[in-house]
Amino acid sequence: MERLIKISEEKNKRLNKIEQLKERYSAEEAFERIKIYAQKGFSSIPEHDLNFFLKNFGIFYRPSTPERFMIRVRVPGGRLKKEQAIEIGRIAREFGRDYIDITTRMQVELRYIRIEDIPVILERLESVGITTYQTGVDNFRNIVQDPLDGLSFDNVITTWDILQKIQSIFLKNPEWLCKLPRKFNISINGSFSNRCNAFGHDLCFVLAEKNGIFGFNVYLGGKVGEVAKPADLFLTGDLVPTFFEGVGKIYRKYGFRDSRNRNRIKYLIDAVGMKEFINAVENEIGIEFQKSGRTLTELDGGDHPEKIQLKDGSFAVHVVVPAGIFSGSDLLEAVRIIEENGNGEIRFTVEQNFYITGIKDPESIKDYPLFKKYRNRSTAYFTNLTACAGTEHCPFGIIPNKPDAIKLADYLSEKYPLDSSEGKIRMYWSACQKGCGIHGMGDLGFVGVKFKKDGKVVTGVDIYYGGTVIGESTEGKLLLRSIPLDQISSYIEQIVKIYIELKKEKESFEKFYKRVLSRISKEALRFIIIFNNLIKNDYPQLSLTVNSSVLNRSSEEEEIFTLGFQLYRRATGKNPYSRNNILEIYDQPEPERPSKLNPYIPKKLESVILRMITKDNKKRYRVFTEIEEDLKEVFYGK
Ligand code: SF4
Repeated sequence: MERLIKISEEKNKRLNKIEQLKERYSAEEAFERIKIYAQKGFSSIPEHDLNFFLKNFGIFYRPSTPERFMIRVRVPGGRLKKEQAIEIGRIAREFGRDYIDITTRMQVELRYIRIEDIPVILERLESVGITTYQTGVDNFRNIVQDPLDGLSFDNVITTWDILQKIQSIFLKNPEWLCKLPRKFNISINGSFSNRCNAFGHDLCFVLAEKNGIFGFNVYLGGKVGEVAKPADLFLTGDLVPTFFEGVGKIYRKYGFRDSRNRNRIKYLIDAVGMKEFINAVENEIGIEFQKSGRTLTELDGGDHPEKIQLKDGSFAVHVVVPAGIFSGSDLLEAVRIIEENGNGEIRFTVEQNFYITGIKDPESIKDYPLFKKYRNRSTAYFTNLTACAGTEHCPFGIIPNKPDAIKLADYLSEKYPLDSSEGKIRMYWSACQKGCGIHGMGDLGFVGVKFKKDGKVVTGVDIYYGGTVIGESTEGKLLLRSIPLDQISSYIEQIVKIYIELKKEKESFEKFYKRVLSRISKEALRFIIIFNNLIKNDYPQLSLTVNSSVLNRSSEEEEIFTLGFQLYRRATGKNPYSRNNILEIYDQPEPERPSKLNPYIPKKLESVILRMITKDNKKRYRVFTEIEEDLKEVFYGK
C-alpha cells in the first residue's frame, strides 16, 4: 500500500490539462446548460463543454459534420427491449438522417444531431429507460456481456442482474460522474463461449469454477485490442459488484492523472504490480478474496452464429450488419420481426452485428426485407467484420475505415467465396492507434497509419494477424507495415488463399492459425505474402505455401532454406538436394541453375533462389529482409 501511495503521489504532482479543467468546471453544470445551448444555438457552447464536458453525457461534437453531434446511447449488455429499439429507430429517422452505428461496446451511436434537438432526444430516450450518461471520457463505460446471456445452452451464470448491480453503483451518481482518471471498460461473461471479447477490458469477470462452485476469475488492465492480465482471484457472483466498487475506488484515488496517454488502470497496475493493487482493493473493501479457479470461457462462440437454438426452444437469429452501419428504419424493421414472430429482444454484439432472440421458426423470417438486404453479406468475410467510425465521423481517424473494410470483404467474397458455415475470419479495423475497432484481437487486424511513400505522406494500414479469442485470448502480431489503401486486398488475398487451400473442413482462421500459422515465424509468413504478391501475375506457378517442411523450424535461416527448396522445386520441377534439411546438404553438389531447367526463370530471380539454398553459408541469406530487398531489385529494378 505504501508503494502504491508513493508512486501515485509522485505521478500526480503535475496534473494534465483535462484534470485542471475538471477542477475548474463540473460535468453536472454542463448537463444543466444543455437546454440553454439548445435555445441559443451551437455558437453559444463554450469550448470546455463542447470538447469535454458534454461527452460525459454521450454528446460528441464532430467537426467533420459541422454543427452536428454524435450521440452515444448506452445499451447495457447490448440488450434492447422492443420499446427502446422503437424509440431509438424513430429518433434516428426524425433527427439523425436515419443513420445508426452499432459499436464494438454493444451500444449505438446516432449522428448528424443538432444541439437544438438534443434535450428532446435525451428525454425521449430516458422515457423508455435508456440513457446516454457516462458513455464518454473519464467514466465507467457500457458494460458488455454475452449477447446470449440467460438464453444459450452454454450460458452457466446469467450475468444480467450482476451487470445491473454494478451499473447502479456508478450510473448517474455524482460520486462517479467524470471522476476517474480515464475511461474504464468492464466485461462480465457467464458462458463457456467468448462472444463479447471477454478478456479485452480494464476489468473482466470471466466464468470460472472452483471447488465445484461456479463464479468468475478476474482479469485486469486490458484495453481495446489488448488483453487483460489474470488477477489470480475467484469471486462468486454476489461479490462481483463489491469487488468492482473497490477497484473503482482505488483507481479513482490513486490512478495517474499526469499524462492522458498513460493513465488507464493498466499503467497503475504495471507500476505497482498486480499483487499490491489487489491488496489495496482488499483493504478498501475489508474482504480477502479466494485465489483464482479454473477459467471456463474457452470457446469462440461456434462456427454457426446465423441461428442458435436457445434453452427455451426458440432461436437467436444473427443479423450481419457490415461494419456496423445501420439505420433507424432497419432497427424498426427488426422490431417488426420480433412482434410478428415471438417476443424477444435485440441483442447487439461486439462485432457490430445483432441477434434477434425468441424466434420460433428462423426459416419463416428469411423473407423479411431486413434479411434480403443483408443476406449476400453473410460470408466468412462479413460475419465477423468490425470497423470503427473512421475519418467520416471521428476526428482521430486516419483512414475512412468502414468503406475500406467493406471494400476488402466484398473483394474477398467475390474472388474467394467462403460461406460463413465453411470458415470464419475475424477482420477487425481501427482507423487510428486508439484501436476502437479492436484490431489487436482480430484474426486479421488493420489499423490506419500515415507514412511516407516516394517522398509524399500517404495513408494506409499496418496489418496484424493471430489475435485469438479461444482460451484466455492473445493479441495479434504486426505482420505488414505501411500498406497503402489501394494495395491491401492484394496482400490480404495471399494469406486468405493459404487459409482456404490448407484449412480443414469448417476450420476457422483462429484454429488454422493455432494449427499451422503459429508454427512459422511472422518473418517467414510476411515473406511468403510479399513474394506471392510480387509474382502473382507473371509467375503464378512459383507461388509459395506453408507446407509441413516449413513448420517448426528453429531459425530464420532454416525457414529461408526450406522456402528456397520449395521455390526451386516450383521453378524447375526438381528438388535442389535429395534432402530438405539445411544440416544434411554438405556432402551434396550445388543445385543446377534453375534457368537451365526452366528458361522462363529470369536470371535475377534465379540468383535469389540459389542464395536461399546454397551450401555456402557465407553466401546464403540469413534474414528475410535481405531477400525482400533483393526482390525489389528483381521486380522494380531498385
Ligand atoms: S480508433 Fe481512432 S478513429 Fe476509430 S473511433 Fe477510435 S479514436 Fe476514432
